[in-house]
Amino acid sequence: MGYHVGRGVECHAHPSPLDFRQSIQMSCNAYYCYVFRNIMDNPKYPSIDTAFNQWRTYVQSFGFGQKLGLDIPNESAGMLPTVRTYDRIHGDGKWKSLSIISLAIGQGEIGTTPLHLANFAALIANRGYYYTPHVVRNVVNEAPDPKYKEKHYTLVDTSHFGPVVDGMYLAVNGGAHSTAGWVRIPGIDMCGKTGTAQNPHGEKHSVFMSFAPRENPKIAIAVYMENAGWGGSWAAPVASLMTEYYLTGEVKRKAIENRIKEGNFMSKASRMKKNN
Ligand SMILES: [Zn+2]
Repeated sequence: MGYHVGRGVECHAHPSPLDFRQSIQMSCNAYYCYVFRNIMDNPKYPSIDTAFNQWRTYVQSFGFGQKLGLDIPNESAGMLPTVRTYDRIHGDGKWKSLSIISLAIGQGEIGTTPLHLANFAALIANRGYYYTPHVVRNVVNEAPDPKYKEKHYTLVDTSHFGPVVDGMYLAVNGGAHSTAGWVRIPGIDMCGKTGTAQNPHGEKHSVFMSFAPRENPKIAIAVYMENAGWGGSWAAPVASLMTEYYLTGEVKRKAIENRIKEGNFMSKASRMKKNN
């Protein structure tokens, strides 16, 4: 606790040191800040602009900062900052890795939609590629439009996705230090990652992305609950119940279901709006 790196990034209570898989299991912000700084400050890049552009190209290959091509109107591209974004904020030549460290944990000038996060979960479930998302009522035998069968690979080698899957498996099934251990589904290997989005206007937003089962996955989900607090507290159980229902046709964990049904975030949100 109270362990800081960079701009006030703090760890939750967890054992230390951590390896990559455990960083996902226990959601260690400091870990990602160190990795991000090591990329941005890598001497193989002649300048922060070059390093940042390389990082940006990789992030873009995961579908972020662009429309994915969904077949319903008004899809949002989200936000992926450019070198110019930071030149405008800080001045040309006046920013460095520490100035943009929030990007390491998905905050600051980056913005994603729930669709981007669900697509990200599917991409990890697929160990390195995604299909253009589209809306279907059900799948019949006729061949779909070929554009929905094209695999979009990221720039990250597919061999690196196994450890990510391991980490997301541990985040749900790894025992005491897992951020979403209490929403483990008996008999189903769900993999997930919690998120807690800072909100300058009030209570934090609760975020969770997941897929299941771990092998031959059938469903990927992103849950984003405004003003609900920790990702593990609310978004994770919602995703877990949806996964259980989708894969088994029923919800056996009535205690979790009832807790969600009785949860009330609207009052919290509207109270904050009044106070602002
Ligand atoms: Zn940590």
